[in-house]
Amino acid sequence: MEPIDRRSFMKSVAGAAVLVAADSARTKAYEGSPVFLSTWVHGKPANERAAEVFKAGGNLLDAVEKGINVAENDPNVTSVGYGGLPNAQGVVELDAAIIDGTRHRAGAVCSLREIKNPISVARLVLEKTQHTTLAGEGALRFALQMGFRPEQLLTPESLKKWLDWKANPQRKTFWLNPADNHDTLGMVATDGKGHVVSGCSTSGLAWKIPGRVGDSPLIGCGVYADDNVGAASATGNGDLMSNYCTSISIVHYMARGASPQDACTELLEHMVKTDPDNRTGDVCVIAINNRGEIGAAAMKKSYRLKYALWRDGESQLLESVALY
Ligand code: ASP
Repeated sequence: MEPIDRRSFMKSVAGAAVLVAADSARTKAYEGSPVFLSTWVHGKPANERAAEVFKAGGNLLDAVEKGINVAENDPNVTSVGYGGLPNAQGVVELDAAIIDGTRHRAGAVCSLREIKNPISVARLVLEKTQHTTLAGEGALRFALQMGFRPEQLLTPESLKKWLDWKANPQRKTFWLNPADNHDTLGMVATDGKGHVVSGCSTSGLAWKIPGRVGDSPLIGCGVYADDNVGAASATGNGDLMSNYCTSISIVHYMARGASPQDACTELLEHMVKTDPDNRTGDVCVIAINNRGEIGAAAMKKSYRLKYALWRDGESQLLESVALY
């Protein structure tokens, strides 16, 4: 390293201090109070439930799990849990994951049928097994063993939508001709004391090829959390995003010093740098650091992220920045 004289040292310190001051004015830290940040409109009631569970003495994993359950149980949310749109055969297959930033342990389920709360099954994979991910038939057996009840997850509305799709000779399929119907609930949270959790739950892309697994239940893609840094989650085209390990990349950018907002943007810019066509991709990300600062960004204006933020007792719905 080059030796540095006292004068330039003082200058660089002063410069750094100005930058830090500007940065902290932009990103107010919320040390001491919990923060819940979720994707989409259905994230708002999910955050509110999570905050309630946390205030009642639940830990952060309980809060994120129970918060996400709200969207899973809501038949009007057609991209998560009960009422989620089915695969090309008319069968609902759900994915979910949750990760604990303290223990650095995750639980996940993929292609889970008949069980409306995959996030709770994922939580039990984390708490009760040495595995991280269970898929398909095995995930269903595990859920039944844990006492979950099998249910028909199609609602009259989602069945009708599937029948209409099926009857349309011009229907979009995923044989290199993508359809678009999705909106995963991703939630990142901090307890205000440096602990972070990330969780997400989805029915994936509507009309997907049976057995298709998106980014959501893949650790490092749909979720990632590390108490040393922060947590991230993602929503959008999981076939595209899985190639970029979005959540762990964002956490790594934050570890190198980026704010959650800059880390989200950096990930999107990296995707475009590697392939300019990604500008048109459905990609949205959210992040939180262990001080409660948040970030949210979408790749493009036509797929801008509505995100829900709960902090200081206030529950809000906001719009993210969009890069293109
Ligand atoms: N990422 C999810 C998937 O591809 C869908 C979504 O977030 O909208 O399965």
